[in-house]
Amino acid sequence: MKESIKNQRRKKSENWNNFNFGRKLEVFDKMRKICKKCKLIFKGTECPICHSTNLADGFRGKIIIIDPENSELAKKLNIKQKGEYAIKIK
Ligand SMILES: [Zn+2]
Repeated sequence: MKESIKNQRRKKSENWNNFNFGRKLEVFDKMRKICKKCKLIFKGTECPICHSTNLADGFRGKIIIIDPENSELAKKLNIKQKGEYAIKIK
């Protein structure tokens, strides 16, 4: 009950000011997860590649693999699917 009043108040204050965008970005970042096994950065609760639920939520540096078939880096890191990958998991 307390929670819903809080949410209502928050919604009201969001309509009042223009900080909506910043808040949404924060939520997006919180939803982002990194698979500890294949280091893929994704949104959700399960890794779309290996279906692992052993996830981290912080990382340092990332690489974007667009064409894993022709990427030397992807071969070196044993990446077979395109996507964003974390270099170091926190
Ligand atoms: Zn994975």
